[in-house]
Amino acid sequence: MAKHEFQTEVNQLLNLIIHSLYSHKEIFLRELISNSSDALDKLKYLTLTDDAFKSMEFDPRIDIEFSEENDKKTLTLKDNGIGMNAEDLVESLGTIAKSGTKAFLGQLTGDARKDSNLIGQFGVGFYSVFMVADRVEVTTRKAGDDQAWLWESDGQGEFEIAETEREQPGTTVVLYLNDEGVEYASRWQIEQTVKKYSNHIAFPIWLHYEKTEYDDEGKEKGKTPTTEHINDAVALLKRSKSDISEEEYHEFYKTLGHDTEDPLFYLHTQAEGTMEYTTLFFVPQKAPFDMYQVDYRPGVKLYVKRVFITDDEKELMPTYLRFVRGVIDSEDLPLNVSREILQQNRILAKIKDSSVKKLLNEFTRLAQEEPERWIEFIEQYNRPLKEGLYSDFGNREALMDLVRFKSTKADGWTSLAEYKERMLPDQKAIYYITGDNEATLRRSPLLEAYTRKDIEVLIMAEDVDELVIPSVGQYKETELKAVNRSDAGEDLKEEKDETKDKELKPVIERMKTVLGDRVKDVVTSVRLADSPSCMVVDQNDPTMQMAQMMKAMGQADLPEVKPILEINPDHAIVTHMKALEFDEQFCDGGFLRDGVGG
Ligand code: ADP
Repeated sequence: MAKHEFQTEVNQLLNLIIHSLYSHKEIFLRELISNSSDALDKLKYLTLTDDAFKSMEFDPRIDIEFSEENDKKTLTLKDNGIGMNAEDLVESLGTIAKSGTKAFLGQLTGDARKDSNLIGQFGVGFYSVFMVADRVEVTTRKAGDDQAWLWESDGQGEFEIAETEREQPGTTVVLYLNDEGVEYASRWQIEQTVKKYSNHIAFPIWLHYEKTEYDDEGKEKGKTPTTEHINDAVALLKRSKSDISEEEYHEFYKTLGHDTEDPLFYLHTQAEGTMEYTTLFFVPQKAPFDMYQVDYRPGVKLYVKRVFITDDEKELMPTYLRFVRGVIDSEDLPLNVSREILQQNRILAKIKDSSVKKLLNEFTRLAQEEPERWIEFIEQYNRPLKEGLYSDFGNREALMDLVRFKSTKADGWTSLAEYKERMLPDQKAIYYITGDNEATLRRSPLLEAYTRKDIEVLIMAEDVDELVIPSVGQYKETELKAVNRSDAGEDLKEEKDETKDKELKPVIERMKTVLGDRVKDVVTSVRLADSPSCMVVDQNDPTMQMAQMMKAMGQADLPEVKPILEINPDHAIVTHMKALEFDEQFCDGGFLRDGVGG
């Protein structure tokens, strides 16, 4: 018998599960059934596509037994799925393979309520068994192998693996129930929980129990072993939309997405005609924890005629919709499609295209008809949608209407359409300011003149804005202009006072000499009210944040971006400088170097 230690993260997670999730403790059964269902899916696929397994007799099923009599109550879950070998056991039940686990654990606060939400997003899977059991045994044999293995743990830092025997391939999990779990050693509890959480599982779930028999007078006669089929076992996707209740959709989502909360919404499509397929998509209430990791886990599973093909194919959804969970089930794809074929398959490309359109239509409907729920969506997914503006040219128009921004005139979030409605009659462009902090942007001197003229400016503090918005350029024929660019003064131009300009010429010339090649130019400003000066970027140069970002991404040969210094002709400091113009002290340049800044 070999002893192993759990990966540190598993230990941390186990502690957290026990302290944060106990109010949802019944999910352990859903997680186990979901694992069995995945294992059955995988073996079913092999029996249909792999010659080595084609002749095998395969009658997929899940069996649940319990014992309430021994001094230790147990619950046993058995499947005849793909099973695991010793290596799989260590990999799957000793470590957490998910990327970003460390970062995720770092986010936890110790506040059980908040953490349980986060853990819900993370998906605890198998380890949830330790909420209800103080010892767990897994006996498993991988399809194709003769050797079976016994995995055993009390969830306290270690597990053991030993050789054992199992007649058929598959997995048996025995839970030695603790005080929290004893209630699950009951026919009624198991049936309730399975019906609630796992009714849609496509394989039959059988419950074994001792049925009490009574004689004619109502006296107990004895017990008969009984087996009852307790779920519908008709794949949800196969049923007609009108027969599926909202609750069933929600439970399906929770199993699929390993989530404890209902989804924000779902979208079920059954397409018939030249192509036949079903898609069922969900948007989680909370963004998946790994949404911003390069190696995020894709959320959409592919089935062909209800046979599971893969849950590890990022190509099934465009990257900017990576938070979508769901299932695509095609009638037209061949069963044994390889990954390479999948990626260039025309049928799949069409399904994907129309899925994206349908999702965006649904988003649009939500934004129009249920603005409050749309804002919940935006709070989680505004940023990925903005990525779409950049990467999905074909759907850019729809996306432009879906994304939201902060603004100098509206509370909360606003849309570009709403901005357009509020534009002044002679306003020429949609103005925006970018940077990395909303509060700082709101105080920027660059906004002063716009505020004075009552022109609205969008506040863009997300890092993607800087990359995406300039590439978009316009919204419904109105140009989008960054106020920190030299050409954004258009609507302010008439303010420029030529006489002041002339009067300041000597000061400006002096500043140019002193500042030398640290600036591209020095000009009088039309956009300042209370501040003496500000820096802007030439309309043809990348902004400073963008230059920094490009540098960080390794573009070393970028020409240095030099700012244009704008000075406020009406500000006291500037008028004072004008007066000082012939003063010797000023000519030293000390004042200029230390005193003027944007
Ligand atoms: P997830 O299901 O999200 O991957 P789990 O912690 O529930 O996470 O399970 C970890 C892994 O253990 C699974 O991905 C699977 O490889 C393996 N596993 C768990 N239960 C079974 C089972 N009944 N049969 C075969 N493999 C299983």
